[in-house]
Amino acid sequence: MTTLALLGGHPEVTALGPHFTWPLIDDNTRAKVAAQLDTAVSIPGRSGIVAELEDGLKAYFRARHAITTSSGTAALHAIYATRIKAGDEVIVPAWTFHATASPLFHLGAVPVLCETRPDGNIDPDHVEELITPRTRALMVTHLWGRPADMGRLATIADAHDLILLEDGSHAHGADIHGKKVGTFGLASAFSLNGPKPLSGGEGGFVLTNDDDTYYRVLTFAHYNKRCKSEIPPGHPLARYAVTGSGLKLRIHPLAAALAFDQLHRLDGYLAGRAEIARHLTEEFTRVPGLEVTPVTEGVVPSWYGLTLTYRPDELGGLPIERFHEALLAEGASEFDRPGSTCPLHELPLYQHPGLLFPGCSHQHRQYPPGSFPIAEHAYRHTIKLPVWHREQDLALAEQYVRAATKVSDRHKELLS
Ligand SMILES: *Cc1c(COP(=O)(O)O)cnc(C)c1O
Repeated sequence: MTTLALLGGHPEVTALGPHFTWPLIDDNTRAKVAAQLDTAVSIPGRSGIVAELEDGLKAYFRARHAITTSSGTAALHAIYATRIKAGDEVIVPAWTFHATASPLFHLGAVPVLCETRPDGNIDPDHVEELITPRTRALMVTHLWGRPADMGRLATIADAHDLILLEDGSHAHGADIHGKKVGTFGLASAFSLNGPKPLSGGEGGFVLTNDDDTYYRVLTFAHYNKRCKSEIPPGHPLARYAVTGSGLKLRIHPLAAALAFDQLHRLDGYLAGRAEIARHLTEEFTRVPGLEVTPVTEGVVPSWYGLTLTYRPDELGGLPIERFHEALLAEGASEFDRPGSTCPLHELPLYQHPGLLFPGCSHQHRQYPPGSFPIAEHAYRHTIKLPVWHREQDLALAEQYVRAATKVSDRHKELLS
C-alpha cells in the first residue's frame, strides 16, 4: 500500500463514479413510465396505476389498506392528523429525520423526544419515564432500515393505551420474524423519495388495518373523488367528502409508475443487499477504529445504510472529520456522515418553534445539549455506506474495505 491519498499517495478506489445510484432505472422502467404518460398523468380517483400500486403495497406488506401520498412527510402528517389533537404529546426518537415528528407542529401537538440506543433506534427503556396524562402516541423510526424493538415498544404502548405509529421511510421490506416493519401499530408512514429502499422519485404512502383510520387519511389527503367513492355513505366523515380537510396530497401518476416498477424488484434488491452487507460486516469487523452495529437475531434490515461507529480511541484520538476526509481522498466517495438526519433538539425548529408556529412555544420542551448522550454520541460517531445489491458490485465494496483498512493502518500519518 502506498501513502494515504490525502497525503499525496494513490487512491485505493479506482472505479469511476458515481459509485451508487438509486433508484435503479433500466429500459423496462423507462418503458413503464413512458407508457403511463400515454395512459394518465392525473388520477383523482382510486384507479389506474395508483390503484395498482396501492394493491401491490397491500399485498407486499399484508396490510388491509394502503394509501399513496405526495411524500413521506405528507403520509406522516396524515397519520398524525387521524388521531392527534392540539396539546397532545407524542413520544418520538431523539434521533431521526425531522419529518418523523415535524408535522406535529402543524397540529398544535408536542413532540417529546426520547433517548435512543447506540444503533439510533428509540430505546424502550426510556419511553415510560416520558409518559404524562397528555401522551397520546408513540412514534417509531427504523433508522437506516434496522427494525426497532417493536415487541417491547408494542407492550409499552398497550400498557399505557398509547397509539403506536411507525415511520418506515428507511425500512421498506425490513421485517422482524417475518412480520414486515410498518404493520406493528395502528398506522405507518413511508417515503418513496429518491434514495429510499423503495423509490418513486417523490411520493409516500400510509398503511393501516383500521377502516376508520383509512377513511380519516382519505379525508385528510384525498378530498373529493376518493372520499366520495370509498367512504361508506353512513360514515360520519362521508359528508365532508367534497372538501375533506382542505388538503390535497396525491402522488403523481408517473411517480406511482416508477414506484410500482420498483416494488416488483424490492425483494431482489433486499436479498442482494443482505449478501453484500454480510460480506462488508465481516470485513469491517477487522478494521481498527470502526465498529459494526450488530444485527439482532430474527431481524431482517432493509440496509438503507450500513452504519459503522467510529472509535477514535482505537486510532490515537484521530478526529472523525480527518478520518472521513482521508476516506474520501481514497476515492471512497460514498462514505458519508449523517447530516440533516440529526438529533432533533439540535435543529432550530425544535429549539425555537415559536417563530414559525406562534403560540406553540409555551408548551414546547427545551432540551439543552447533552440531553440525549447516546443519540448525540451515535450521531457524531456514525460513518455510513449505502449497500449495493448486485454481485458485480462486490468488487467495488471490496475497494471500499481496502480504503478503510488503509486509512486505519496508516492513521499515524494523520496524527503528526
Ligand atoms: C425521507 C424521510 C421522511 C420524509 O419523506 P419525504 O418523502 O422526503 O417527505 C420521513 N422520515 C424519514 C425517516 C425519512 O427518511
